[in-house]
Order: sequence, then structure tokens, then C-alpha cells
Amino acid sequence: MVKREETIAFFVEKAKEDFALVEKNLAGVITEIKNSNAKKLNYIEEFDAADVLRQVAELKKAKYKGKLFGVPVTVKDAICVKGIESKAGSKILKGYKPLFDANVIERARAEGAIILAKTTQDEFGFGTFATHTEKVPKNPFDNERSCGGSSGGGAGFTAFTKNFHVAIGESTGGSIACPASFCGSVGITPTYGLVSRYGLIDYANSLDKIGTIGKNAEDAALLLEVIAGYDARDSTSLQNGFKKEDAPIKRLAVIKDFFDGCDDEVKKVVQKKINELKKFYEVEEVSLPLNVKYALAAYYIIATCEASTNLAKLSGLRYGAQGEVEGKHFDAYFSEIRSKEFSDEAKRRIILGTFARMSGYRDAYYLKAMRVRTKLINEFNNAFKQYDLLLNPTMPVVAPKFSEIEKLTPLQNFAMDLCTVPANLAGLPHISVNVGFGEESKMPVGLMAIAPHLQEKRLYSFAKVME
Ligand code: GLN
Repeated sequence: MVKREETIAFFVEKAKEDFALVEKNLAGVITEIKNSNAKKLNYIEEFDAADVLRQVAELKKAKYKGKLFGVPVTVKDAICVKGIESKAGSKILKGYKPLFDANVIERARAEGAIILAKTTQDEFGFGTFATHTEKVPKNPFDNERSCGGSSGGGAGFTAFTKNFHVAIGESTGGSIACPASFCGSVGITPTYGLVSRYGLIDYANSLDKIGTIGKNAEDAALLLEVIAGYDARDSTSLQNGFKKEDAPIKRLAVIKDFFDGCDDEVKKVVQKKINELKKFYEVEEVSLPLNVKYALAAYYIIATCEASTNLAKLSGLRYGAQGEVEGKHFDAYFSEIRSKEFSDEAKRRIILGTFARMSGYRDAYYLKAMRVRTKLINEFNNAFKQYDLLLNPTMPVVAPKFSEIEKLTPLQNFAMDLCTVPANLAGLPHISVNVGFGEESKMPVGLMAIAPHLQEKRLYSFAKVME
């Protein structure tokens, strides 16, 4: 049970009356940043103390005390914050300081949030363990293990801090749910289009969703309500926002095929929770055969095609890393910079994506994957005719050790996204909540609930019952 005194809403209520609480909480969080940096836990990519002090001074004078008044918010590195290095975990964007705030940052600031620091991630979101970057975050429960990815730093710090704080993350194929699950936090990935992508350094435009990570469902939901909303600068931004009514939840279904693909340790914890849920809801099993068979393949075609196009602009001229141009042909210069600054994982995805959308192959791969995607969405929609929410373990394993991750082949790596990719591909809102700890590993296990498009409210009420 989450106590009211532990929620951000409670903190904000008190902080509005007594600014000393804001200062005390902030001092606590800053000490934690310093401690985690000293221990090389690598949650934080960039922290600018002077910028934070400036924000606090402004907040002190503020007339409007918003929904996040005085709350420190950390931000995934891929989301642009004015004047603060924003490099999506990549060496090629080193030194890039945006001249503007992303829409989510504008919205958070308008409600009184303190934009505290950038958090570590897989380069451009390419990964499941936050290991594809220079600063690899370490799981607060066991430093030998991964925080999950790609929003690993945000989830790791959320679990690490003892103070009031929430994190903004981003998911393309599971990057919020996975780290939330590995770190025992709550992660909400909204319906595609609910939160503006303006100011996000894109991974794959038809898949990217900015969302939230908190210590409890209420905190994550509060931040989501602040950052969601229509924005004309994102052409896929939705006009109407999520459904306000709280539809009563009666029938749930566990996605059997995903459940079967998980480790025994994970299954055991999740099964126990599902048995408990039977006291509150009707719980059945459902099968999504098309999603099990085709979601990963379709996802990795679509994601790499879009990523390879997006990364074409990074050529060592306009943003971030630069080299010596004098006397070089432009092609040679671009290749030199890109060879040096992109990691092997980024190169793998550029090659895969460029191949799949080459003329002659486009119809066979990208367009076919898009058609498959429609079929997968229909399969979900059919299931939602019978069930209010669908459930599955968030990840098939508990957070693995770094030594185990090193041994995975790229294909085994991709297969870890079995349970998170389908909902992401379908643009469906989902939440990952901690439901216990593995018997052997003692690591957190997450359960994921998926709702129909724009029914994020249903996720909150369900998560509260679980908590
Ligand atoms: N692991 C998936 C990938 O590498 C998802 C990552 C994400 O959501 N950014 O593409």
C-alpha cells in the first residue's frame, strides 16, 4: 500500500505553503545525485547546479503554484532541455545544447517543476539494458545487474532516491516498461500521440512515445497528466486527449503466449499476483498468435528503417561532434565522423534499416511490416471487445547481470522485448507495476497492464488496486 504522505501530490500540497520543504527535498536529491555519481552508478548524464539554483530562485517568486510545484524532475537524455547538453546517450551529439525546450519540458515548467538533470540511456534508445552507451547505469538493487533500457538512468534514479522525484522517459518498443520493471518502479507509456514529441531526439517517429516513471502509480500518473496534451508542432499529436471517465474494470485476460515465454522465476511471482487479482476481477486467458509470431519482426524492420532515416542528419556538420573538414570531400568527411562517433549498435541499426528501405526492397520489408502492424492492432482490438485490460509479465527475465548480457547475440537481445514490443507497436497505453521479487535473484518483477487506446485512466485505477 502506498501511503498518501509518500506521494508527490501530498508533497506539492505542503510545499505550496512552506517553500523550505522544496529546498530541503531538493538538497536531498542533489546529495543523492552526488552520491550515485561518486559510486559510479551512472544514472545522471548531465547536471547543471547553477541552472537548478536559477530555477529555484524563480520558483520562489512564482505567483502560480502549479501541480508539480517544487518537484525535481529528471529527463531522459533524448529530450531537449534548453541550454543543457542533450545527446540521446550518443557520442555524435556531444556538446549539443538545444536552443529550446521540448514541449513536455515547457509543460512541466509551467506547473512548477524543477528540471533537475538528464538521465542516462542506450544510444538513441537502441537497446534493452542501457548498455549501449558510455555511462552504463547500474541497478540499485544489485550493482552487477542492468537497470534495463533504454530509459535506464531515469528508472534507476527513481528507485535509488529516497526523496520526492519523478522521471520523464521515452519508449519506442518498451523503454519505459522494461527499466521500470527491472528497478521496481512504476512506468506509464501513454497512447501514441497523447504526448507531444516536439523536442524529442527521434528514434522511430511512428513508434516514439514520451511517458513517465515514478515510485508509485499516482506520481507517474500526475506527471503524465501535466505533460500530455495537443501540440501543433507535432503532426501526430492528438487533439482530444485521453478519456476522462473511469470505465469500471471487470474482465481481465492474461496473454498466455507471452506468459509462456517467460522464465520460471518471473512466472511464479506474476502467477501469485494474478491469483490475488481473481478476488477483484474475472481473470481469463487470451491468445494473441499473430502478435507472438510477427510483432518482433515487424517492429525491428519499422524501427530500424525509421531510425536510419533520422540519423542521416548527424553528419558532423550541424549538431554535436565535429572534425577537420579542410581538404576533404564531403562524403569522406561524413563517413569519417559517423564511423568514429556511432557505436556498433547504432551502425547495426543503420545498416539494417538502410537495407530494408532500399529501392526494390521497400515493398518487401517496410511496407509489408506496416501492413502486418495493422493486423496486429486488429488482433488487440478484438481482444478488447471481451476484456477491459490485458496482462503479461513486463519482461521475460529479472534484470540480468552485465556478464550475462555480454554473452547475448543481437538476436537474443531483440527477443527480450517479446512482451513489451506488441503494445508499443500498436500504440496502446500500458503500465508496468512491481508485483514482487524473484525467489532466487531477489530482483524486482513487473506486471504490465495494457488498455485500449486513450484509456490511461483505466490503468491508474487498476494499478492502485495492485498497489
Ligand atoms: N529494446 C527496444 C529497441 O532496442 C526498445 C527500445 C526503446 O523503446 N527505445 O528498439
